[in-house]
Amino acid sequence: MADLLVVGSVALDSVETPFGKVQEALGGSATYFSYSASFFTAVHLLATVGEDFPEAHLKLLADRGVDIRGLQTSKGRTFRWTGQYSYDLNEAKTLDTQLNVFAEFRPVLNEGMGRTPYLFLANIDPELQLDVLRQMKARPKLVALDTMNFWIQGKREALRRVLAEVDVVTVNDGEARQLASEPNLIRAARAISAMGPKTVVVKRGEYGALLSTEGQLFFVPAFPLESVYDPTGAGDTFAGGFMGYLAAQDRIDAAAMRRAIVYGSVMASFTVEDFSLKRLTRLDPDDVAARYAAFHDLIRVEP
Ligand code: AMP
Repeated sequence: MADLLVVGSVALDSVETPFGKVQEALGGSATYFSYSASFFTAVHLLATVGEDFPEAHLKLLADRGVDIRGLQTSKGRTFRWTGQYSYDLNEAKTLDTQLNVFAEFRPVLNEGMGRTPYLFLANIDPELQLDVLRQMKARPKLVALDTMNFWIQGKREALRRVLAEVDVVTVNDGEARQLASEPNLIRAARAISAMGPKTVVVKRGEYGALLSTEGQLFFVPAFPLESVYDPTGAGDTFAGGFMGYLAAQDRIDAAAMRRAIVYGSVMASFTVEDFSLKRLTRLDPDDVAARYAAFHDLIRVEP
């Protein structure tokens, strides 16, 4: 069992889907990631919030066992994101992004954090991702990165620099196409690999997830659900299951990656069943095991 360090956003999200809406609910890439990964291994969270961040949210993460000593409270307002989904829940439309305290944030790693063997650079300014990577005292066994259109457009150069140094990238299909300037997903995955990461995971929402590693492809569908309320955080929750499983096993071979993709899909399938982190906060480790077994049945075929 190995530890996991994540840097990314901790946010207050206002989200509207055809099935309801929430105002300033707990969100953020590092929030979903760490909560999800905590079902598998010890997670250390590196991020910042403003003075307006509700104490109850901190408690939620701490109660789950997430190490929040690296979650700094800075002067100012918490990061805010406003998004909307139409009936096609696969794509979020960003209505507003307020970086607030993240505009000035410079993460400082303590001695222990700098030696964490598994590192996830969750969706945030690529300059911050690079800053964290540079501060690692020992090269982690595995470094994975997530990003989004906001940074692909706004900070492409910095993103290319950090991409050159990571092992795994997780992006959704739109982002993969945008990053590679290539409409075909298989070619896009190959083009992204050529930028640095040996392993590319393309998250395809309700169409599942594609793993491309050293020329080999593996694909899993999304778990079939009858009620999906809010896809926000699905990608980060997926990454939490994926990295959490690998760190827990302390294995990064192709077979472990395949199982990790399924654990990622299992965790994401819970997140979308309610708004914000609501479904995850009702989740039991037994639910995870049961859905993994159901998932296994779903995709198993006789040779
Ligand atoms: P996803 O897993 O892709 O649905 O990620 C959703 C989360 O990403 C939300 O909780 C947002 O707070 C967060 N987010 C949205 N835009 C950004 C951004 N530009 N940088 C960092 N985090 C973001």
